Amino acid sequence: AKCPANYVPLTPLTFIKRASMVYSNRTSIICDGVRFNWRQTYDRCCRLAYSLRSLNIVKNDVVSVLAPNVPALYEMHFAVPMAGAVLNAINTRLNAKNIATILHHSQAKIFFVDYEFVPQASEALRLLMADLKDNSSPQYAMPLVIVIDDINKATGIRLGKLEYEQLINFGNPQYPGEDLVDEWDAIALNYTSGTTSDPKGVVYSHRGAFLSTMSLIQGWEMGTEAVYLWSLPMFHCNGWTFTWGVAARGGTNVCIRNTTAEEMYRNISQHKVTHMCCAPIVFNILLEAKPHERREIASVVNILTGGAPPPAALLEKMEDLGFHIMHAYGLTEATGPALVCEWQSKWNQLPRDQQARLKARQGVSILTLADVDVKNKDTMESVVHDGKMMGEIVLRGSSIMKGYLKDEKETANAFQKGWFFTGDVGVIHPDGYLEIKDRSKDVIISGGENISSVELESVLFKHPAVLDAAVVAMPHPRWGESPCAFVVLNKTGISTTEAELLAYCRKMMSKFMVPKKVEFVKELPKTGTGKVLKVELRKVAKTLQIS
Ligand code: ADP
Repeated sequence: AKCPANYVPLTPLTFIKRASMVYSNRTSIICDGVRFNWRQTYDRCCRLAYSLRSLNIVKNDVVSVLAPNVPALYEMHFAVPMAGAVLNAINTRLNAKNIATILHHSQAKIFFVDYEFVPQASEALRLLMADLKDNSSPQYAMPLVIVIDDINKATGIRLGKLEYEQLINFGNPQYPGEDLVDEWDAIALNYTSGTTSDPKGVVYSHRGAFLSTMSLIQGWEMGTEAVYLWSLPMFHCNGWTFTWGVAARGGTNVCIRNTTAEEMYRNISQHKVTHMCCAPIVFNILLEAKPHERREIASVVNILTGGAPPPAALLEKMEDLGFHIMHAYGLTEATGPALVCEWQSKWNQLPRDQQARLKARQGVSILTLADVDVKNKDTMESVVHDGKMMGEIVLRGSSIMKGYLKDEKETANAFQKGWFFTGDVGVIHPDGYLEIKDRSKDVIISGGENISSVELESVLFKHPAVLDAAVVAMPHPRWGESPCAFVVLNKTGISTTEAELLAYCRKMMSKFMVPKKVEFVKELPKTGTGKVLKVELRKVAKTLQIS
């Protein structure tokens, strides 16, 4: 269709320009003594965009960055797309080999490196150089490396000739903002965490980023006075879109380098944090904090959690501490959260454990997603809304990725008739709320029955001695597969045995679901987001004897 004359592309870049006018003097970022207001942040972004253009960055070039939650990484979320380029924030927990693979695959033209990650980056660059020698490609040369030093206390650590603040100083604040952009242009490139398959480069559009951001600030009722603590790494789906979202509200970003209990509690209390995001794994850090690390939670702290299933028992404990939790579900391919467990006031009257169970469901589509459903992948038929019939969760709408970078085959595989297949298995309850039962690769099929590992884990989590639990399939001579539970005990002094836990399971669930083995471990193998590496556990489970 032809665009009307008043057509303006949808892009989150408009948020920061507006913030610089409407909230010019309000604090935009606080980071370890450094403080900027929105006028300054916008000015710095324009300068950086100008400098990037001067360094020959052109439309669709990839700019990669390896940094913790520091102002530079926040600013790049605006400055890089303002220069027409695509931001690729790399997971700082990856090893040098993975980083080199990402730089090569994305053909990054510039690589920003925070001083803290210079060792990994140097090694990655060495591997990349060797790789380029072996597989010389005429189109790609090594990226230009730029170090991000500590604004507060220069460390002088160098890798490459340029430093981030030099680009800011050199830049021109009169840079014409978002003029270069079309809404279907790529804004960011994020690699999947590769829990179930090799990492893939997911490309987001300006339009998708804009729509997701709008939905999330609306769905979470994030107001203009919001003080947002960066407990979630910005490299995870651009901080689940809140990099752009905090600018949209003219809120305040509180940046921290490490998510230790002490750092989180100190910042929450000092800056009166109102909002933060984190994976359920961070709940354990907050709950297990030592008395001297804790601070009083004086006013309501809203937490948006997701990335892995939060057990209802854990949600209840967090609310007891004074946190107000909202649960979201998403994936890299959906620009972050695609579903939220939207709370209904009629549930306020229910007993607390029932409320926690409702909240542990993944919920309903965010406002700007066109549709969500649970389908049988072969027949494309939707499941009955009975909370029992399982199928694959499918999503449709503008906030779903443009596709996988340079991978048409995987992109075509991921979609069917416009629906994106998530690889997650779920049910829809009679009230229309969706609940995840498993990742399709983690479902345990025992004697022909599907067993949801997530369901088993949530039962184990209710046991007072259990800190963490994961259930995977183990081979069984009679049933083909059977559940095997890996359990981490908590430090409260309450102990248990395999026999006692199995007896507990028999009371709480159908017989065919009861694990055939409980293995106690010190900790579970996890990714940075707290996703259990079930592939590893399945390998161990294969070597264990059925009890
Ligand atoms: P990867 O698929 O490589 O692990 P992602 O980081 O994109 O990369 O992870 C997305 C996956 O995380 C989803 O497909 C789902 O299995 C899981 N997930 C995300 N949020 C939730 C949630 N709230 N509850 C249960 N699982 C979740």
